Amino acid sequence: MAKTLFEKIIDKEIPATLVHEDEYCVAFRDINPGAPVHILLVPRKPIPRLCDAGADDQAVLGHLMLTASKIAAAEGHGEAYRLVVNNGAEAGQSVFHLHLHILAGRPLHWPPG
Ligand code: 5GP
Repeated sequence: MAKTLFEKIIDKEIPATLVHEDEYCVAFRDINPGAPVHILLVPRKPIPRLCDAGADDQAVLGHLMLTASKIAAAEGHGEAYRLVVNNGAEAGQSVFHLHLHILAGRPLHWPPG
């Protein structure tokens, strides 16, 4: 299987501005930010979409949520941030390696587009 774009970033084959790295996940700044803080948090395991995750992935999914909160706090936005997961092309997913968008630093309106 060819590596996903995000696997190449995880493996440092493609440069990115990393903000966090641990045993289970890597976070880096989005190349085309939609907010002053726009970070992508990706599991090292290349789960294509959230709907492809299974019971074995429960721990890593929980880890992603807790890590997202820590990253938002480290960015100075621990009290106001948004997490987005686009699942499937029709929902706006363009990179098929599960990722959380962490958005902060401006008013975030609801509903999103
Ligand atoms: P999706 O549309 O799949 O939910 O989100 C993919 C995100 O990856 C987009 O926000 C896009 O700007 C970001 N992205 C695409 N290519 C690159 C890249 O090469 N480097 C980084 N840092 N972000 C990327």
